[in-house]
Amino acid sequence: MMYVSTRGQGGEVTASQAILQGIASDGGLYLPKSIPLIDDAEWRQLCRMNYRQTALWVLSRFLTDYTPAQLEQCVAGAYNTQNFSGGIAPVVTLNNGVSMLELWHGPTSAFKDMALQLMPRLFVTAMDIRQDKRRAVVLVATSGDTGKAALDGFAGLPGTQVAVVYPADGVSAVQRRQMTTQQGDNVAVAAVDGNFDDAQTAVKRVFSDKVFNEELAQKNVFLSSANSINWGRLAPQIVYYIHACAEMQRQGLLEPEQQADICVPTGNFGNILAAYYAKRMGAPIGRLLCASNANNVLTDFIQTGQYDSNRAFYKTTSPSMDILISSNLERLLWLLSDGDGSYVASLMAQLAQTGRYEVSDVVRQKLADSFAAGWCDDDATRGEINEVWHRQHYLLDPHTTVAFHVARQLGDCAPLLVVSTASPFKFAPDVLRALGADVPNDEMQAIDALTALTGLSVPSGFKDLDKLPERFTTVLKKDGLEAWLRSGIL
Ligand SMILES: *Cc1c(COP(=O)(O)O)cnc(C)c1O
Repeated sequence: MMYVSTRGQGGEVTASQAILQGIASDGGLYLPKSIPLIDDAEWRQLCRMNYRQTALWVLSRFLTDYTPAQLEQCVAGAYNTQNFSGGIAPVVTLNNGVSMLELWHGPTSAFKDMALQLMPRLFVTAMDIRQDKRRAVVLVATSGDTGKAALDGFAGLPGTQVAVVYPADGVSAVQRRQMTTQQGDNVAVAAVDGNFDDAQTAVKRVFSDKVFNEELAQKNVFLSSANSINWGRLAPQIVYYIHACAEMQRQGLLEPEQQADICVPTGNFGNILAAYYAKRMGAPIGRLLCASNANNVLTDFIQTGQYDSNRAFYKTTSPSMDILISSNLERLLWLLSDGDGSYVASLMAQLAQTGRYEVSDVVRQKLADSFAAGWCDDDATRGEINEVWHRQHYLLDPHTTVAFHVARQLGDCAPLLVVSTASPFKFAPDVLRALGADVPNDEMQAIDALTALTGLSVPSGFKDLDKLPERFTTVLKKDGLEAWLRSGIL
């Protein structure tokens, strides 16, 4: 299986090259030239597989220059009971018949672990396959969840170092502690004085600084990134949709001739795009319901075919979905235009110049065939958390709640799977507020209060967070990133 760029000018590369390179040379995103299909006999096999077997089956279709033994080693290292103590991606069905796909049983309690436990292993293996002897420095700017998941995924992996920067005034106390207490010799963390855009801009500047990158090359070092435009993060996400459909059939929630609607809380469009790949492969998936918070640019796009990022930006209680430019949408545009790279490139040029574009009637029709969309604001989110807790005795985090609410708006009689992307304990103050309880000022106390109120147990990753030493306390000026990299980890 070869990979091409969404913008049509990036040549053809293998899976390992796509994973090492991240972004294509024409500025587009890599994706497989074709989509492997599941036939009936294979589907029956998949229905008997556990998570790891499913992962191996799916990944071997996409990452064809990895050997089965290499994939097996990556999969076993990522998806085991040490990393995922509460099950890997369990499907839990509530008393109203809605099934939840819980993707937050990994070490950092958010769904980013599903990809970031595996992707670093795929990355290191790709260096083996390419016989690349350089050292990789993985540089990540994070607004919270990705940073910790990347640190945890890369910690201890040979030939790599991971450096994470977060906005000094942008992350919660729990998110900060999760990062600054990270163990391992090949990790480094610093705050950047400013907001997320400042951290992101600082990182982009380092990537595009030719002199600095040459200096690194002299030392046999190259910079890479772990963000969700890397195919190595997307491929692992296809696995859980296939596994969940099989699981729903096993549990009798989905009859053999039925299809499930899947509702996904969406930000960068990576997670829901993986669901679309699973559907195109032939998994029994009906409509994909795209759920947004008040930053509802995707709702408008799916309903009208017009993408317009020229609008107010809202800080919401579901911060990982506070995004106005969803990078992975570019891959969907390529798929819906039958791989028309120059068409995608022209839309992306319009987006860069004017902040907006409109798709053709053909593309809009295909979009409407597979997707529906809705959104919900913070008030409705709080109301829904409270209602679901009291009626279904199930505690939702704010991101998952947005999807739950939208699924109810858009739902018909098809079996429904709502994707649950974070543990409610990760957002304890907002969840407590939604339940009408007092909210302690200290976030660690909020976690304890939420346990006391609900009787649910705290995920293990949060238990000793306030007891571990904070190893990394550096606060960088906006232009201080290169000096920090030079002095510390290079
Ligand atoms: C990243 C994230 C999302 C959004 O996922 P995308 O792949 O960016 O659409 C939703 N919920 C949580 C908790 C997240 O961390």
